[in-house]
Amino acid sequence: MIKWLFLFSLAAIFYLWLKGKKQVQFDSEQANKASAKQAKIPDPEVMVQCQYCSVHLPKSDAIAREKCFYCSQAHLQSLDATGWLGSAAWRLSPNQDSRPQGVDPDLLVIHHISLPPGGFVDRNCTGFIVDFFQNKLDSSLHPYFQEIAEQKVSSHFLISRQGEVFQFVSTQNKAWHAGLSSFFGREKCNDFSIGVELEGDSDHPFEDIQYQALAKLTSELQAIYPNLHFAGHSDIAPGRKTDPGIQFDWEKFQAKADISVDKLPFGLHSR
Ligand SMILES: [Zn+2]
Ligand SMILES: [Zn+2]
Repeated sequence: MIKWLFLFSLAAIFYLWLKGKKQVQFDSEQANKASAKQAKIPDPEVMVQCQYCSVHLPKSDAIAREKCFYCSQAHLQSLDATGWLGSAAWRLSPNQDSRPQGVDPDLLVIHHISLPPGGFVDRNCTGFIVDFFQNKLDSSLHPYFQEIAEQKVSSHFLISRQGEVFQFVSTQNKAWHAGLSSFFGREKCNDFSIGVELEGDSDHPFEDIQYQALAKLTSELQAIYPNLHFAGHSDIAPGRKTDPGIQFDWEKFQAKADISVDKLPFGLHSR
């Protein structure tokens, strides 16, 4: 009798063990199913704001440019409400201050710059100009840099040999590009002008892509500042400055940018 009781208990223990094992298996299957279901729920869409018009949109639909987002190509290409151009690479310069109250720019001054002089001919030197306008130029890299390292200058825009546009100062602020200057009797041209530097010099023709970028920039600026006139640095600082120089083709610029000739009071001849 005891023998049968023992065998029965053994069978009962075995049954309970088997049931427990199945339950564990069932539980883990359920857990796996639940986590698979969870994985299918998509992440909430990250929303961003258009730098130009402030509309909110999913990040996946926005155009990213450096640290900003835009809702359309048109807004990326435009000058925003704070005076920054979406399509330009923004490199803030400390060399700036406020325009006189109530003054909007009505003059665009064209310059040329090359660091070190002529360096762009056989290598990409744009970074030196960008550093220079941010007071970050390493003067140990070239003897010429030692001569200019202490200068505190800037421009609103720079167009590289490859046609890339950089912006250093909002068009609403004053960049330090013109120096001692006069535009038909109006002194201190920085107060009422926008400065655009073309990477180049007086010995080499400017690149076609630079004229294209300049024409595009001009039309975006004219959309905000319809009274803009156009001059070279040498026109407003004669005897002191020679840029943009003999290589700058004013006729080509006028035709590409489709500017009326009366907006070019110094004429279309190379000078
Ligand atoms: Zn927008
Ligand atoms: Zn200049």
